Amino acid sequence: MQKLDSLATNYDVLVIGAGISGLAAAYALHQRGARVVVVEARAEVGGSIRSEVTPAGFVVENGPNTVVNRDPAIWQQLSTLGIEAERLTADRSSGKRYIVLNGKPTLIPTSPPALIKSDLLSPIAKLRMLAEPLIPPACTPDESVAAFFTRRIGREPMQHLIDPFVSGIYSGDPQALSVQATFPTLWEAEQQHGSILRGMLAKAFTAKPTKAPPPTNGDPAQPKPKREKSVMFSFREGLATWPRALAQALGSEQVWLNAPVQRLYPTAQGWEATVLRDQQPVTVTAAQVVLAAPAHVLAELIAVFDREASRALATMPSYPLSVVHLGYRREDVSDPLDGFGALCPARERRNVLGILYPSSLFAGRAPAGTVLTTTFVGGARMAHLAEYDDAALVDVVRREHADLIGAHGEPIFVRIARWERAIPQYVAGHATRLAVLQESEARYPGLYYLGNYRAGVSVEKCWHKGTALGAQLPLTRAAGVPT
Ligand SMILES: Cc1cc2nc3c(=O)[nH]c(=O)nc-3n(C[C@H](O)[C@H](O)[C@H](O)COP(=O)(O)OP(=O)(O)OC[C@H]3O[C@@H](n4cnc5c(N)ncnc54)[C@H](O)[C@@H]3O)c2cc1C
Repeated sequence: MQKLDSLATNYDVLVIGAGISGLAAAYALHQRGARVVVVEARAEVGGSIRSEVTPAGFVVENGPNTVVNRDPAIWQQLSTLGIEAERLTADRSSGKRYIVLNGKPTLIPTSPPALIKSDLLSPIAKLRMLAEPLIPPACTPDESVAAFFTRRIGREPMQHLIDPFVSGIYSGDPQALSVQATFPTLWEAEQQHGSILRGMLAKAFTAKPTKAPPPTNGDPAQPKPKREKSVMFSFREGLATWPRALAQALGSEQVWLNAPVQRLYPTAQGWEATVLRDQQPVTVTAAQVVLAAPAHVLAELIAVFDREASRALATMPSYPLSVVHLGYRREDVSDPLDGFGALCPARERRNVLGILYPSSLFAGRAPAGTVLTTTFVGGARMAHLAEYDDAALVDVVRREHADLIGAHGEPIFVRIARWERAIPQYVAGHATRLAVLQESEARYPGLYYLGNYRAGVSVEKCWHKGTALGAQLPLTRAAGVPT
């Protein structure tokens, strides 16, 4: 029998990690005719995207629940992959989000008149928030999210609105996260226009077509150019439908599963990696390499040839997070669960970061007559809670369900997923770390850093960065590969 090692092959590009970042890059490269291979440590693709259709008829998301998109290129890709018909658009009620205030989910206002009427902020806090354009800008280097928003919109809006958003989206701590790295658009708004509101208005203004549309022979029915509306979506069987379709389009020979990279180093011709494939070490050589595994994995992998970049990756923290799915009979939950879910500000001292209502978001997430909730426990501020054993975790989550959404009786469905390191935190010094990675790319031509540790954690941002890299990376043929 042929020894696996003798199958060692040359590729134009080796992509390490089959999350959405790596797969998007590989697919764009494949479309350009590059010989690309994606190697993935786990038995399935998707990385953080982990959807499960359970025998009990619940569809659960152990990672991301939704993607928000306004880019036609994503719809185009879903159609090319043949999964457009599987796509689900979130229910209109998903625009309703709640913040827990004095122990009760309270609707987040989405317009200035709604903010004026809302109980979420005191009258003084509302006035302070509306005074944002009058607050002079400051040039505090690497300011935290908490300091920036407290300065610009006031302490109470920061605690009631920004804090729960940060724990809900990043499972992070606003005191530790860098505003420049975590909210670059809002930070730039202050830098360029002296105020968040003025910056956002300027952006909205410049995004509109500046010229009147061309004459239309007086036909008033001629459509005007429109800005695409953002759409929140998933798929019938969960978000994993997308990475699975990308992997299928690449083909099984181009996507190796159960194949962790163990070693990587530069050579005169490009890159050489040792991949454990079917328990056997295989040597893979490639002209270029895309590093799309999590930051802590890459920190170890590149330490042998770039200590500085390794240190930059190793100092991007991420915290444990547990995801608890509960199914209840509809009549056992008094809250209508009308909306996206409820987030918990730190000052409420709850034991959960937030509760999502997936069965209100998308059709078919729970069997008829039942509801499904997804609760996040742990993160930067309460990491120890994520490590509770299953029984204690479910107990904590059930108590919060009883208090916050009036859920009583035994849940009819329980599922727990655990993340040892959930989401990379863009803490103070992140911009410097990214500059180190850029220098590393300059030092090692053909090496690319890609993934949620670099330019945004959302699935949509990861897809965009991956697709852009795959579309722009200058192709170099691997030695010995016919052109
Ligand atoms: C619980 C949770 C909820 C989230 N909710 C949302 C949400 O609602 N909306 C949203 O937009 N985003 C959300 N996110 C964030 C988003 O899902 C991620 O940031 C994004 O999917 C990361 O994609 P990636 O490809 O960069 O990295 P990953 O998905 O982490 O992929 C990296 C891949 O590298 C593989 N790998 C590791 N080691 C090796 C090795 N040695 N060799 C080869 N491969 C290796 C991993 O197995 C993995 O498949 C959430 C994340 C989590 C964890």
